[in-house]
Amino acid sequence: MGLQSPPALLARGVAMSQQVKFAVAITTPIAEAVLAAHKPSPQGAIALTRAATAVALLSTTLKERQQVGLQMNGEGPLGELYALSTREGAVRVTAHNPRASAAPEGEVGAVVGEGRFTLIKTLASGAPYRGTVPIFTGTVAEDLAYYFATSEQVPTVCALGERVEGGRVLAAGGYFVQALPGAPEEVLDVLEARVLALPPLQDALMSEAPVALILDGLFGGDYEQLERSECAYACPCERPRFARTLLTLGREELTRLRDEDEQITLECHFCAAEYSFNREELSALISGAK
Ligand SMILES: [Zn+2]
Repeated sequence: MGLQSPPALLARGVAMSQQVKFAVAITTPIAEAVLAAHKPSPQGAIALTRAATAVALLSTTLKERQQVGLQMNGEGPLGELYALSTREGAVRVTAHNPRASAAPEGEVGAVVGEGRFTLIKTLASGAPYRGTVPIFTGTVAEDLAYYFATSEQVPTVCALGERVEGGRVLAAGGYFVQALPGAPEEVLDVLEARVLALPPLQDALMSEAPVALILDGLFGGDYEQLERSECAYACPCERPRFARTLLTLGREELTRLRDEDEQITLECHFCAAEYSFNREELSALISGAK
């Protein structure tokens, strides 16, 4: 069974005379799971944690049995970055080279590079709905806001932040604000001006009551929290799924692998859990393979 982090916090509600909806996520336990699973570079840690926080925030917009995925295909050394969340806030993330770095140090956009940003909503029927825009800055939050503004014409403000010191994640999280249908366009202009005057997000994340501090900063007193829930890094991987993956190799290839090695070990890309199959187990698979 894969990785399961302690719960992280999600809050959602409406604000600004009910003209916008918001979500806030405090995802420090998810960031710690990212470090444990991927042993990423400092830039990789930030990119993966922000993508995980982004899908956690987006999970508050889903309906039953829907999932949301965020994919960044940049030409930077990180390679493809992919995060997904269920509606229940079970989050996981992977990248092709999480340990990669790029100059200038500390700039997450440099490790992502230019390319495509894709949002994938999987409907309850299993059908995917995809939208793709160019990567805007590679900092994830700005890319998400850019995606909604251009691809879905929904004015959106998003911020994602973290405090990482000496390889330890002290805090991570972010927020996401969208205009509700019928709201005047200026409503988010007002908000954007307010955001510019706020202290850095990581200061709020490090505080005793980060959700209240973020919401008070964004909306003054003009907001209503509708729900508080939990999200977590949760990889649902399990042995039978990896056995099925081996089966897809076919009888001939499986036989070759069995005769070559004592055992085969597969690693989950999302949580680094390892699944080993010895010769006996491979023989059993082979007798069931085509
Ligand atoms: Zn896994």
